[in-house]
Amino acid sequence: MALHQKDKIRDNLLDDIYASQDLSVSMPKYKFPEQEQNPRHVYQIVHDELMLDGNSRQNLATFCSTWVEPEVHKLMDECIDKNMIDKDEYPQTAELEGRCVHMLADLWNSPDAKNTLGCSTTGSSEAAMLGGLAMKWRWRDKMKAAGKPTDKPNLICGPVQICWHKFAKYWDVELREVPMEDDRLILNADEVLKRCDENTIGVVPTLGVTFTCQYEPVKEIADALDALQEKTGLNIPMHIDGASGGFIAPFNEPDLAWDFRIERVKSINASGHKFGLAPLGVGWVVWRDKEDLPDDLIFWVNYLGDNIPTFALNFSRPGGQIIAQYYNFLRLGKEGYRKIHEACYSTAAYIADEIEKLGPFEIIYNGRGGIPALCWSLKKDTNPGYTLYDLADKLRSRGWQVPAYSMPANRTDLVIQRILVRHGVSKDLGDLLINDIRRCLDYFKDNPVNKALSEKDAGGYKH
Ligand SMILES: *Cc1c(COP(=O)(O)O)cnc(C)c1O
Repeated sequence: MALHQKDKIRDNLLDDIYASQDLSVSMPKYKFPEQEQNPRHVYQIVHDELMLDGNSRQNLATFCSTWVEPEVHKLMDECIDKNMIDKDEYPQTAELEGRCVHMLADLWNSPDAKNTLGCSTTGSSEAAMLGGLAMKWRWRDKMKAAGKPTDKPNLICGPVQICWHKFAKYWDVELREVPMEDDRLILNADEVLKRCDENTIGVVPTLGVTFTCQYEPVKEIADALDALQEKTGLNIPMHIDGASGGFIAPFNEPDLAWDFRIERVKSINASGHKFGLAPLGVGWVVWRDKEDLPDDLIFWVNYLGDNIPTFALNFSRPGGQIIAQYYNFLRLGKEGYRKIHEACYSTAAYIADEIEKLGPFEIIYNGRGGIPALCWSLKKDTNPGYTLYDLADKLRSRGWQVPAYSMPANRTDLVIQRILVRHGVSKDLGDLLINDIRRCLDYFKDNPVNKALSEKDAGGYKH
């Protein structure tokens, strides 16, 4: 190698990242790159691009964990190679998953928590698919045994998260979604009863409805289904979508009967990565009893070194989240979860009260009785000169994400704004947000958005 070439290479090695040859050109965006590049340089480029993402801690729209303890970061790093499906290669990871299932069965008052079945999933969506499938299978077996047709299954629910729409479409089940009416923004027993028939595979109340964060009345619905069974013989099971509430109610409202204490509740799903406080990528589904999960849905895999049962939509998936979940259970116990959620409730109620004091807003859910969150609309019949969409936009200029959105049928006229108060949303952060909302209102007072607002656009809350 010629001496001047050596000098050139040496120069390149010493180059500042941003003065490097690599970064002197734009990175490929849509064509597969031909050449390799220096890892340090590429890391910096990818890292820098991610600056343009929102700041997750200020994203008050998400239910998911945006803050975890340093120990969780450490465990996640140590577990980057753990494949959850490979229970023979990683038997201890599998053991920890099993422990979590039984701890949850115990937390949710399964009559046989030590022996019942359940599994981890990638989130509540996959867990809901599995819970729904088990309901469909049990219903179909029952109908077949009675010599009845099995081509028209239906599922009854309130205003549900999108995963139940997916379940219904992907597995060909009619979704009987009870619409909102006037001030009733959640499911109730009367509306369930109107829709039950022998093709109903189950009823799915939500503990922490996505739109308003309220709890649906599980016990009231179960009692109504008991009465229906007494009258007609129809025995309709329940699955609880406890995506958020499943990791809140047991700690903060232990006397609320929503779980396996109610005999009709056959399965429950919850998101470990929401109020379970695990990092993104873990959900859970647990059955009341072994018998409630049809054997026929379980596959046995023999090419991982042992004969291993699996009930899941995925095959390979990361194990770190599950290990972090187990860490949380040991680290926090009921006491720790209760304290963290209690702090969130207190902050949610505080923010709700402060937002109410601002004047133009009608609080729809004030953080009391559901999950730690709040939501509001503009007061009915007012025209403050801006919509909640405008307010959401304006708050974005300070980095806050406080989504404005319309309700589903039959309240598409109602536009609300919602805040989730999660682990890491402190009262102090709440004060900073309230100050920014106040600043936005002052701005709109001087600079009303220049358009005539119909009540519909303004999201007026009709009574
Ligand atoms: C978030 C949520 C889901 C979906 O859960 P993922 O864990 O995001 O898949 C389902 N149902 C409810 C009520 C939810 O809040």
